[in-house]
Amino acid sequence: MDLLNTLVDKGLRRELPTREEALAVLATSDDELLDVVAAAGKVRRQWFGRRVKLNYLVNLKSGLCPEDCSYCSQRLGSKAEILKYTWLKPDDASKAAAAGVAGGAKRVCLVASGRGPTDKDVDRVSETISAIKEQNEGVEVCACLGLLSDGQAGRLRAAGADAYNHNLNTSEATYGDICTTHDFSDRVSTVQQAQAAGMSACSGLIAGMGESDADLVDVVFALRELDPDSVPVNFLIPFEGTPLAKEWNLTPQRALRILAMVRFVCPDIEVRLAGGREVHLRSLQPLALHLVNSIFLGDYLTSEGQAGKDDLAMIADAGFEVEGTDTTTLPEHRRQDCGAAAADEADDADGDSEEIAATVPAPSDDTRRDLVSVRRRGAGTDLPPNA
Ligand code: SF4
Repeated sequence: MDLLNTLVDKGLRRELPTREEALAVLATSDDELLDVVAAAGKVRRQWFGRRVKLNYLVNLKSGLCPEDCSYCSQRLGSKAEILKYTWLKPDDASKAAAAGVAGGAKRVCLVASGRGPTDKDVDRVSETISAIKEQNEGVEVCACLGLLSDGQAGRLRAAGADAYNHNLNTSEATYGDICTTHDFSDRVSTVQQAQAAGMSACSGLIAGMGESDADLVDVVFALRELDPDSVPVNFLIPFEGTPLAKEWNLTPQRALRILAMVRFVCPDIEVRLAGGREVHLRSLQPLALHLVNSIFLGDYLTSEGQAGKDDLAMIADAGFEVEGTDTTTLPEHRRQDCGAAAADEADDADGDSEEIAATVPAPSDDTRRDLVSVRRRGAGTDLPPNA
């Protein structure tokens, strides 16, 4: 297929595909799926070999958020019966993090619900970062605390945060459909503040919220322009009790096509398979390892994931290996010269979008509510974490 040959060549050269090419990946048929996975797999192996980085989520503060992100079980008015608790003490957060590290996680992601932290919250998280770093040599810590105010990114960096996560989630054009309490530009600004403070930026998307192919391509190109070091790809977990509970729009095949498209647009960036992989990829999860070079181990913030030991077995069975702390995730060239080159390439490719008609994927009746289960163990409970 000419398209795939072109995309492999571009991926190996770190060249940005056109929007038309990215849309064409999403439009491939199920008959072409293994060819698409094989092509994107070549790009993945060029920059990341067969390594899989493991990340572990610790929800520091769960539920009761004043924001109205419609995909989120922690949102204002959510009826989802999730765990609700206020800030974990640093020692408790550190214990939860240690379980993930013992399970093979290289990065711990400290997440808190809310619009953004107060300065007191930043102090609290700074203590937690110190506790985790003292007790887990070499671990990377990423903070995810919402929108940042002036000076907070610098304080988190000074406290030892290696990275900051804030997702763009969906295209700028549709952002107002999923959230009314903040906008796309607020999110972009927080990612830029994290970068300016010297933290590694992590920013990704959520697929399956009813967006068009053009929206998906738009958000991935917007991410590429921001040039984060890692891009988590979430697939919507349609929680009962949230406005998007009925959005079951993904098949395992579509989820793979989305991951392949992200890999082609972000060839040498850490692409992380995030929430919803068990729900939407199901038995095709191992194929996704040919596309992404990073996954979350165990449970998510408010939902339960596959058992951590099954994650490890899946990686080994598929012929991949867990990335150790002695290996740097990103290829050498990205450690030296990230920003400008990628941003320039993104500018060069901007012209193609107008020619492409938006295609809204046909909704699937492939609902698997049995795979959506609220987290009842780990942080905020007396039960051991899944790691
Ligand atoms: S700000 Fe974060 S925690 Fe709050 S509703 Fe949005 S995604 Fe959920």
